[in-house]
This record gives sequence, C-alpha cells and structure tokens, in this order.
Amino acid sequence: MAKYSIIVPAYNEEKSLELFYAAVTPMMDRLGEDYELIFVNDGSRDATKEILLGLAQKDKRVKVCHFSRNFGQQAALLCGLQMSSGDAVIAMDADLQDPPEVALQMIEKWKEGYEVVHGKRRKRKGETWFKKATARLFYRFTRKITGMEILADSGDFKLYDRKVVDVLLAMGEHDRLLRAQVAWVGFKQTAVEFDRPERVAGESHYTVKKMIKLAESGIFPNTDYTLTLPIKLGLALGFLSFACLVTFIVLTCMNVWFGGLIAWLFPTVGAFGALILVCQGLANMHTAMIYREVQNRPKYVLSETYNFDEETQ
Ligand code: UDP
Ligand code: MG
Repeated sequence: MAKYSIIVPAYNEEKSLELFYAAVTPMMDRLGEDYELIFVNDGSRDATKEILLGLAQKDKRVKVCHFSRNFGQQAALLCGLQMSSGDAVIAMDADLQDPPEVALQMIEKWKEGYEVVHGKRRKRKGETWFKKATARLFYRFTRKITGMEILADSGDFKLYDRKVVDVLLAMGEHDRLLRAQVAWVGFKQTAVEFDRPERVAGESHYTVKKMIKLAESGIFPNTDYTLTLPIKLGLALGFLSFACLVTFIVLTCMNVWFGGLIAWLFPTVGAFGALILVCQGLANMHTAMIYREVQNRPKYVLSETYNFDEETQ
C-alpha cells in the first residue's frame, strides 16, 4: 500500500485551513491508503498557528512545521518535501484553489507510472488581468532565456514521485523555484487540467515584490544569460559604432552634410550610458545570487514542529 504526503504552505490562512482539512481528509480517506498532511506555517501573524495546533491534536496524520518568520512559499515547499515520507508527494495551496479531487486524478496518473504530474490551469477565476499578464510574460521570458521547458499555466500544484523528491532535495540552490527545478529533473511527466477556482477565503499574498523575487529565482539559477549579455551587446554596439565612424568619414570626404557629429552626441551618449547600467545591473543581480549561494545560509528556520516522529526530524 502506497503512502502519500500532502504538503501545504500556509501564510496567514486562518480562514481557509479548517475548510481545507474538511475537504481533503474525506477524499483521502475514501482512497483507503495511508497519508500524511504536512502544513508548513510560513511565519503567519494571524491564528494559523493555533488552528494548525488544533488540527494536529485531533488528527495524528496532521503534521505541522512552524517557521521562525516568513521565508516565502518556495521555502515552505522545500521544508514540506524534506519532512515528507510518502512514496508520492502532492503540493497544494491552503486556499482550496487547487481542487482536492484533481489530486486524486494525479494519484491515478502516478499509479499509471508517471513520476511528475502537473496541475495545469485551464481557467483562472478571480485573478486580475495584471496577474495573468505578468504570469504569461514570465513563463514566456523564462522559457526563452533559460531554454527550459517550464510548463505554462501551472503553479506549484504537482505530484512528485519519491525518486523526484530525492533529486529535488539534492539540488542545493538557495533561491529556488520548484516549477523551474522540476523542468530540469526529467523523468516521466504529465499534466492534468483543471479550472482554477477563486480563493475559498482571504486574499492572495503575492505582492509585486514577491512576484519579482519568484521570477529571479526562476531565471538566475538556470541561466548565465545575464552574465553573457554585456559581451554580446558590447560586440554588436562596437560593430555599429565602427560602421558609423566609417560612414561619417566617407560622408565628410564626399562633402555631404549629415547633421554633424554634435547631433549624434547626446542621444548616443545617453543610450550607451543606459545600456552599460542595465548590463551592470543584470550582472550585479547575478552576483548577488551567487553571494547568497556562497553564504549558504539555511533556506528556512524552524521554530517548532508537531506530530513528526524522531526519524523524520
Ligand atoms: N504562501 C506562503 N508564503 C508566502 C505566500 C504564500 O506559504 O509568503 C502560501 C499561501 O498560504 C498559499 C500558497 O502559498 O497556501 C499560495 O499563495 P497565494 O494563494 O497567496 O498565491 P496565489 O494563489 O494568489 O498565486
Ligand atoms: Mg491562492
């Protein structure tokens, strides 16, 4: 009999957690197999901690990790993967935007032999045009510059076989974007489609700042594009400048008036200055990421755990 681990990052989810538990446990019970529900409280400031404690006290299959502060959803997912002991691990949001019945379809696919099953969003209710547009742009851009096949319209609602979890845990980078890492690992992957409902309660925690951080984690560990871009642009511009110079000399020799050098000066200097700063900035962002890797700080800090036995801690 297989064992499943459901891992759930939760940040200020006091309104959703009991609804999540009430929706997921009967469904998993019907399956008639062993499972654990791992909630990772990502430094919530509301009653998330107390609610999780209540659930853990009445149900030993509910396991809880509390972070010492808010480390972000990706760190919470990593903690869930590390603490899990199932043969298959399913990552789900706490707000019921990842419908529990879709998790059952994922399990079916896993039983057919797939090692990663993605939840692919057909429609996304209750999301602003800004969120949808930035998400589309992010996937397109990241795929293009990293050359990795990150599945569009899929977030972190996925099932991973234990083999895949072990590889993901062996990947040591500090800034992690699970959905980009999973594109790297290979194995047999498939997707199940679903219509994404609105949040059951509360509001999205994804601020623009958090979305930018997520995009950085998807891009910088997976490409050296930003480091090699200046040399490509430098060569192209060098060639262009040389061509301009030759043209000016020829036109001057032929006594053709072309506006004079001064007319070209300000826009050219401005454009070059901006370009240098952009390239420098990109390289700095990459260096900052390398610095975080070298520091090798813990990716999250646990303050307390409940219902884990000695071996998994
Ligand atoms: N989350 C988290 N830490 C954060 C932000 C979000 O653990 O800093 C959790 C949140 O509780 C939820 C999941 O990550 O279970 C997805 O977050 P949210 O619903 O806010 O994102 P959206 O669905 O709007 O993309
Ligand atoms: Mg959500």
